[in-house]
Amino acid sequence: MTDDWKTRTAMVHGGTSRSHWGEVSEAIFLTQGFVYDTAEAAQARFIQTGPDEFIYARYGNPTVSMFEKRIALLEGAEDAFATASGMAAVSGALTSLLKAGDHVVAARALFGSCLYILSDILTRFGVEVTFVDGTDLDQWEAAIRPGTKVVFFETIANPTLEVVDIEGVARLAHAQGATVVVDNVFATPVFSQAIRQGADVVVYSATKHIDGQGRALGGIILGTRDFIRGTLEPYMKHTGGSMSPFTAWIMLKGLETIDLRVRAQAATALALIEALQDHPKLVRAIYPGHPSHPQYDLTIRQMGKGGTVVTLDLGDQTKAFRFLDALSIVLISNNLGDTKSIITHPATTTHQRLPDAQRLALGITPGLVRLSLGIEDTDDLIADILQALDAA
Ligand SMILES: *Cc1c(COP(=O)(O)O)cnc(C)c1O
Repeated sequence: MTDDWKTRTAMVHGGTSRSHWGEVSEAIFLTQGFVYDTAEAAQARFIQTGPDEFIYARYGNPTVSMFEKRIALLEGAEDAFATASGMAAVSGALTSLLKAGDHVVAARALFGSCLYILSDILTRFGVEVTFVDGTDLDQWEAAIRPGTKVVFFETIANPTLEVVDIEGVARLAHAQGATVVVDNVFATPVFSQAIRQGADVVVYSATKHIDGQGRALGGIILGTRDFIRGTLEPYMKHTGGSMSPFTAWIMLKGLETIDLRVRAQAATALALIEALQDHPKLVRAIYPGHPSHPQYDLTIRQMGKGGTVVTLDLGDQTKAFRFLDALSIVLISNNLGDTKSIITHPATTTHQRLPDAQRLALGITPGLVRLSLGIEDTDDLIADILQALDAA
């Protein structure tokens, strides 16, 4: 039904499964379980669960299934599994693939909780992890070896916005038989072509652009039907990280507008970075979709646009704090991908716990701020940011 639908059509109608009432807006099936007509029917469903049959909400639910089908259309993936949060997605994807004795190669610049899973949890279960500079293909090549089971990276690193070459890393990983798992939050599912470019498993925090309105935590794991139903689903359904039907409904509604929102946000990000070129208060203004970014060509080849986040460096923490405190539209908070513009000072919040040397090695300087553009009027936002820079 949906093979020739373009994105916006698929995000409004894709995956919908109507009840006999014929509701327009997707139903929330807020039920943990399902009734069987007979004992024999219950037995049969436990032996072999058909495509539109459900047993228990931890295993699957009609509203959750609609969300999985719709996001799979957006990503161009065969199948998807929805999770309770982005971290349930990252940990489920990795843990379902790995066992003691396996070797993982990961980019060093990672969201704090992703780093914790790799460096503190998986290693406790006998998984060996090698960290590399994600932007340097030579380091990936040197680290990936016969027997490397998984490679993992954020396709655009938070908050420094370094871009990893998906095709390049996937070529090296696949040559050794490794599975490529990517955390694709900053690329957004709107601009992502990660599966076509060689990623085997794509993970999102749905809390970000997929909800896009700051309401609910969620996550999604996308990949081949074999991986999702054969490897991942048994792990997720027995360990309990599934998404709730109510959250799935929120995420379905988010998908209806995601293309409009994310394209508007990316256009504002580009307009802002152009307005900030050579601004005297800024040491650096980073946006992968602007020619001033060292990986601009890779960014455009890989995703067409630069995403919805810009990172600015005001030189020191005092100026960064003065800038944040002078903003009137942009909110100080730590989500991203929201309709509301949000700014974060990573060194004192999201990356506070890292030792100073490690934080600096990742490029997170005291003057750095991460700005997630919302869908407010572009001119209003630029005016707010320019007046706050004057005050900094
Ligand atoms: C937010 C985020 C996560 C974690 O997602 P939650 O929904 O907060 O659990 C993982 N990776 C990246 C890159 C993120 O930005």
